[in-house]
Amino acid sequence: MRTESAVRGVRVPFFVLVAFCILLLVVVLAGVQTATKSVAAKEEGTQAASVNPQDRPWMNRTLSAERRADLLIEQMTLDEKITLVHGVDPVPAKQYVGYVSANPRLGIPAITLADGRAGVGNDARDITLLPAPIAAASGWDTEVMNTFGHVLGQEQRIKGTDVALGPSIDVVRVPEWGRTFESYGEDPYFNGRMAVAEIKGIQSEGLIADANMYATMNQEDNRFEEDSRVDERTLQEIYLPPFAAAVREGHVGTIMCAYVKTNGVFSCENQYLLVDVLRKQWGFDGWVMSDWGATHSAVDAANHGHDQEMPGEKYYGAELKAAVLNGQVSTEVLNSHVRNILVPLFQHGIFDRRQVGSWSANARSPQHDAFARTAAEQGTVLLKNEAGILPLSRAASVAVIGEAGSTHPKAEGGGSSAVVPPYVVSPLDGIRKRLGSDAKVTFANGVDPVAAAKLAQAADIAIVFARTEESEGADRPDLSLPGNQDALINAVAQANKKTIVVLNTGGPVLMPWLEQVRGVIEAWYAGQEAGNAIAAILYGDANPSAKLPLTFPRAADAIPTSKREQWPGVGGRSLYSEGLNVGYRWYDQSGTPPLFPFGFGLSYTTFRLDHLVIEPEKAEPTTGTLQVKVEVINTGQRKGAEVVEVYVGHPPANDEPPHQLRAFAKLELKPGESRTVTLALDSRSFSIYDPGAHRWIHRRGSYEILAGDSSRDLPLHGSVMIR
Ligand code: BGC
Repeated sequence: MRTESAVRGVRVPFFVLVAFCILLLVVVLAGVQTATKSVAAKEEGTQAASVNPQDRPWMNRTLSAERRADLLIEQMTLDEKITLVHGVDPVPAKQYVGYVSANPRLGIPAITLADGRAGVGNDARDITLLPAPIAAASGWDTEVMNTFGHVLGQEQRIKGTDVALGPSIDVVRVPEWGRTFESYGEDPYFNGRMAVAEIKGIQSEGLIADANMYATMNQEDNRFEEDSRVDERTLQEIYLPPFAAAVREGHVGTIMCAYVKTNGVFSCENQYLLVDVLRKQWGFDGWVMSDWGATHSAVDAANHGHDQEMPGEKYYGAELKAAVLNGQVSTEVLNSHVRNILVPLFQHGIFDRRQVGSWSANARSPQHDAFARTAAEQGTVLLKNEAGILPLSRAASVAVIGEAGSTHPKAEGGGSSAVVPPYVVSPLDGIRKRLGSDAKVTFANGVDPVAAAKLAQAADIAIVFARTEESEGADRPDLSLPGNQDALINAVAQANKKTIVVLNTGGPVLMPWLEQVRGVIEAWYAGQEAGNAIAAILYGDANPSAKLPLTFPRAADAIPTSKREQWPGVGGRSLYSEGLNVGYRWYDQSGTPPLFPFGFGLSYTTFRLDHLVIEPEKAEPTTGTLQVKVEVINTGQRKGAEVVEVYVGHPPANDEPPHQLRAFAKLELKPGESRTVTLALDSRSFSIYDPGAHRWIHRRGSYEILAGDSSRDLPLHGSVMIR
């Protein structure tokens, strides 16, 4: 039967009518959706339709960000400026952790801020839990770190975030630091490379990254009051370089000033840090926002380089306004803060967005799940593999032991970087899935070490999973595995000579049982794909290629910061008396053997490094870079990747660390393959900071160039004469 309907007297076929209705529905729904989005996600400040473009010349995209900012500032009232320099607390769009009000009159959009170091934080759903930054960084691969930034940035953008609060780039000074897992490691150069890669990844997704926490945020203990007493050379050579790289090469849009004090002055009112270094030395053109509650004054802060208070307006509301009106803070100073905020907003297209994301949108994708696994595999460090016990054979029966193995997989750290994962693959599930239906796998949670040992005895291989609980807000009391875990590992190792330990920690731990076990893997907090990645490493589907980005010590007191006055400090002060000798520098300088050195990690294949060539051998320090060539040969039976690490030793002088990382490169080689990699050493590799002259200087002399695959295994030596 043919159905036809009459529309305004015209006979229209039924299918045309249906199509028309569907179209109408789509248009209406789209309208509703757009409206909900802009209401729910953020106040729209632009009101584009009703505004004559000539009235808002700062919306002209052909102008520079700086020009647009200046045009806008000319039109802003004092109240409007004040509104921009602080957040709104409580946050009206509750999902976000930070929020700056929109200005509908001038078309300034609301600014939304969300946490995220290993995935979008603040209770967001439908996001990806990536491995902790310390894990991702352990791949020593800036491409992986760059993709990490892309994935994180894309998910933040889908969620409607304008400023992604991360990455955390402070150098790990104290191995017990509760936020070690959020950082990249203990070397300033290494952290700088990773920061640049991640920031570029995040910002290329059309939002602003936030390098935190500036500066000397090296402990959680007493973090709202702690005063880091550190000499200027150490600051410039150890603690500031990651931030310098983030600014100069990463072009980061915002920097978070930290809770702590540096040399007696709170970070968020520290003229030296915020003005002399950040603006004058590095030329930063973005804005400095406070960590949550880290602003301590209006006048002092405003006059010393702090642009925006978070999360509220304790100081930067009425008090700052009054200070401007009574002249304690000049209009020029206030304008400079407003400009610092507006320039990156224009640069990163926040004013020009046509589409705003939404907190309820799904940010996950199969590609992101797959990357979470790749990054975890790439970051898993093989520390011990006695008599080649790993990779395991599928035929062997396995006893999986420890809560971290199954019931409480430890996939992420706590605090503001906590993420609500869509799922976490436990190691037990990962191993079972890998082995398939014929898997011979048993499990004991290890609460009772005797029962666990019995289970271990009955299996060919025992794998103990051990974990630490690390979080912002508290340092670890010591470097031991908490609870009964050391005893458990000992008991299992007694019962089964083929015991392997897998560590899910955010930082180094002591291993009193090391001699008793055949294998050790540091899998860190490995994210949602933890179990799959660990299984891939255990069974050799992935060949480990990661290296430690920080030193694992032999004993609690054999660390650079073992004195109380160094950490957690005495009378509110932490003395950075180790000076430049942070991390591996201290172990090398004091002749203290580490348990596992910085830069160390094994593979299932073997490599040889050869033929170090330095070009030119005599150089003017300021003229460009120096090239270091190293041949890498895969001497084993498997495809694998090796990291070539290049360290520079300065001409001997007082306090000079023996050698410092200045370049690295990762390359993959087939069995028997050999390739020559070229690494560049920049002029900074041959300079030191002169605190008397307040600048970087070059010293003449012979510099050692060392290459190898860990800070303690540097077989290739050369030298270069700096004239
Ligand atoms: C943390 C920051 C975080 C902020 C907002 C603070 O406690 O130190 O890293 O971005 O909270 O959650």
